[in-house]
Amino acid sequence: MESLYASPTSLAIGALSGFLLSVAIAHISHDPVMTGCAAVISLIAVGRTISAIFYYRKLKSGVARAYRRWEMAYELGAWSYAAMLGMLALVTLVRTDNPAIHMLSVSLATGYGAGIAGRNAGRVKIALGQTSLALLPTVVGLWLSGDFGYRALAVVLFIMIFAMRDITRTTHNIVVEALRGKQEKSLLAAKFERLARYDSLTGLENRMAMQMRLRDLFAANRYTHDAFAILWMDLDKFKEVNDSLGHQVGDGLLRAVAERLSSTIGDRGHVARFGGDEFVILCPEANRTVAQELAADLLAALAKGMRVGQHLLTNTASIGIAVGPQDGRDAEELMQHADLALYEAKNMGRNRVVSFVWSMKERFHRLHEIETGLRRAVANGELVLKFQPIFEVKTGRIAVCEALLRWNHPTLGQISPSEFIPVAESTGTIEEITHWTIDSACEAAALWPEDVRLAINISPAVLHSGALPTAVIEALVKTGLSARRLELEMTESVFLDDDTHTQHMLKALQQIGLRMVLDDFGTGYSSLSYLRSYRFDGIKIDRSFMTGITTSVEDQAIVRAVGLMAEALDMEVVAEGIETQEQLDYAREAGIHTVQGFLMSEPQSVAAMTDMVLRSVTIPTAIAAKASRTGAAMNAVALSKERRRANG
Ligand code: C2E
Ligand code: MG
Ligand code: MG
Repeated sequence: MESLYASPTSLAIGALSGFLLSVAIAHISHDPVMTGCAAVISLIAVGRTISAIFYYRKLKSGVARAYRRWEMAYELGAWSYAAMLGMLALVTLVRTDNPAIHMLSVSLATGYGAGIAGRNAGRVKIALGQTSLALLPTVVGLWLSGDFGYRALAVVLFIMIFAMRDITRTTHNIVVEALRGKQEKSLLAAKFERLARYDSLTGLENRMAMQMRLRDLFAANRYTHDAFAILWMDLDKFKEVNDSLGHQVGDGLLRAVAERLSSTIGDRGHVARFGGDEFVILCPEANRTVAQELAADLLAALAKGMRVGQHLLTNTASIGIAVGPQDGRDAEELMQHADLALYEAKNMGRNRVVSFVWSMKERFHRLHEIETGLRRAVANGELVLKFQPIFEVKTGRIAVCEALLRWNHPTLGQISPSEFIPVAESTGTIEEITHWTIDSACEAAALWPEDVRLAINISPAVLHSGALPTAVIEALVKTGLSARRLELEMTESVFLDDDTHTQHMLKALQQIGLRMVLDDFGTGYSSLSYLRSYRFDGIKIDRSFMTGITTSVEDQAIVRAVGLMAEALDMEVVAEGIETQEQLDYAREAGIHTVQGFLMSEPQSVAAMTDMVLRSVTIPTAIAAKASRTGAAMNAVALSKERRRANG
């Protein structure tokens, strides 16, 4: 259809020539029938030209829709025009003897018939109809005129109709082939565009599409300041599904999650898969409250579980929310902050929604500083060891000194191990740090009396790597410290993975004489089953139980019970965090063997610790020394106040 109207110029030229020649014929002949024909031809010509221009304009602006009607209009105009040209030729040949008029009308009809065969090849039926309607009456007219030359021309023209039909068909096929190729190309282009915008696994939009959407939204809301929210979601423990049930089930889960999200979100936002198990939901017109409601709905929807094959999977998810424009100056920053909020949600224990607040950024910045700084902390000598004595209750003497790390950060100041050890564990620097600690602590302890042991804290991450025994043995050999003077403190989390390899390693170290001590007992999972399969030499009751020991009946019961259990299992018990005389007295009554805490001594420098063990400091002398130090300090404060008062 478009090909018929595609070239209004050729149509206009055809109309113009029909108009001019038929008027010329009417003018020369002065015949009323021919003048009538010329009038009709001119009318049709004008009508067709106008309709062609009109349709062409509509086509260009993309609103030409009712094809059938336009096609009929064209058909009607084309056939009547061709028929009129044929009729004019017939009439001139029959009614006049003027060869000039004959030449004009016959060449008009043949020229038109030949030209149309090519022009309208897009519609074979119309082209053939027009050629026949223009040429057949001409052939008849030529034959009827009786002249030999005219009759010869009639025969040739008649044959020409078939030649024209052939040309039309061939041209039509070529045009259709070309169109088909073009269509295939554009289909392919559409397919590629789809591939570029959509995630092939879930059929959701992908990262690129979502980022474009977000940028557009940001630009649109720049001046209106309407709220809009980004929810960044990450499935919890997706890796476990992949690892234990295989990638096919993992893929199935992602598809199920995508469906669940889409149906829960409805028209409240757009969801995209950001790769892996991460999904981002963009909610135009959502403030923080609305976004939090949606996030809660999503978690609730996922909590129902997803069926994948024969498995019912109940993976929870964590969601971070950032609300534009207040949570970010541009699309990138907003995304970054939603990601930060997600990171926080993961850190806080997963299966929760966290909304971005600007203080997160400071915390994250500090974390980043710690992470990068840790890599050079050992090499730059920024780590320092302190030692805290553990006293034997019965004799009062120092039995063990526990090595405790300190990090003097060049810009952040002193950082507590509780803050940087978890970071070192997650970034892998813990191994280097632990090896340095073992070396330095053993070196210090080698100078202490033989009956004072050294305790070193060991992270589970170090136990899993397998390099610990070598590091310990090397340090012992280098410093000459005997193995039975070294004990390793670890928390029960080392048994979380139920790793038999860890148990073997610990037993091997015990066999060469090292002591193993269970730290922070009573916190965490506190399953007693590992006490059955692995025999510790000592157990440290967590500080939190000592805090309320003088008032809480529950704490008293627990401490007593642990004391009894340790006795029965032949383990030495340490009470951590003794801060008051009452706590010390209670520990003694409960039959606790050893005590550690600020009442006797805070963690000390190497020099101070060495001095303490060489002077054989005991519980009473340590407490007295501390009391006199604090007394002296208090006296100094009182004295300076008095002086100030005296000076007015
Ligand atoms: P932890 O092994 O339970 O160490 C005892 C912690 O309690 C130390 O904190 C110590 O200063 C503190 N403490 C001792 N007595 C008292 C008391 O009476 N009251 C109070 N409030 N606190 C007391 P610190 O030095 O900050 O160490 C914290 C934790 O960091 C340690 O807990 C240990 O888990 C870890 N850590 C320290 N050094 C190392 C190390 O070299 N390697 C590893 N992997 N972890 C370490
Ligand atoms: Mg410890
Ligand atoms: Mg502890």
